[in-house]
Amino acid sequence: MGTVYLVGAGPGDPDLITRKGARLLKVAGAVVHDALVSPKLLDEVSVGAELHDVGRRAGTKRLEQSQVNELLIELAASHEVVVRLKGGDPFVFGRGGEEAIALKAAGVSFEVVPGVTSGVAVPAYAGIPLTHRGIASSVTFLTGHQVTSPIAAGSERTAWLIGDGTIVVFMGLLRVDAIARGLVERGLSPETPAALIESGTYPSQRTVTGTLADIGDRLRGIEVSGPALIVVGEVVALRDRIRWFQEEGGRPG
Ligand code: SAH
Repeated sequence: MGTVYLVGAGPGDPDLITRKGARLLKVAGAVVHDALVSPKLLDEVSVGAELHDVGRRAGTKRLEQSQVNELLIELAASHEVVVRLKGGDPFVFGRGGEEAIALKAAGVSFEVVPGVTSGVAVPAYAGIPLTHRGIASSVTFLTGHQVTSPIAAGSERTAWLIGDGTIVVFMGLLRVDAIARGLVERGLSPETPAALIESGTYPSQRTVTGTLADIGDRLRGIEVSGPALIVVGEVVALRDRIRWFQEEGGRPG
């Protein structure tokens, strides 16, 4: 029986995987990866290793989570090192916890190798610090669904709207308008700065900035095909002073 390593691949730039993750990739007998993993990292998998793509893209489901769990359990029976490679960090909206529970239930040993979550790295590459003295003192990671699901009558603010905190929305690309509206309905000012960052940390990174009131309009006519994060809060305005990463496809803003 082998060990399954739940490895965070980082957000895209292949240099942002940990040393431990990179070492395991080279020695793995089988690698099971999802769609958000940089192809450059997959080049580092040894030639003889089995490669399984179980990637989910918005809308299309290739494998059910239970089937992925089964595959990992199966592979552990015939390989000493199995790497389950996930975009960002396995335990940040990555369903790594579900896989860990399934492995434990099946008596398969596993380790978690944390990764640099896109929630932290992507704003950094866009020149947006998540906290900044005097401007933002907390960060909340949300999914788009949490912002657009109906709010109970009477609850004006939701628990995750913490004071001056920065909000990072994962998986929100297809609902930017509804998310911006949802945040305003929950008490944020329409003038709050907001950014959408596409394909963060890749050469094709692109950032569009605006406010909750106009970010939807600013995105109109722009085709976004890569993964995207929405960052909301006063820290977004610091980008003008901090931006450092050359965005190939990006138009300024
Ligand atoms: N476990 C991952 C998140 C998986 S959920 C992590 O820790 O980063 C998938 C969502 O992550 C995408 O819908 C998008 O919102 C975000 N994401 C992942 N990689 C990204 C990237 N390179 N640029 C922008 N957003 C990204």
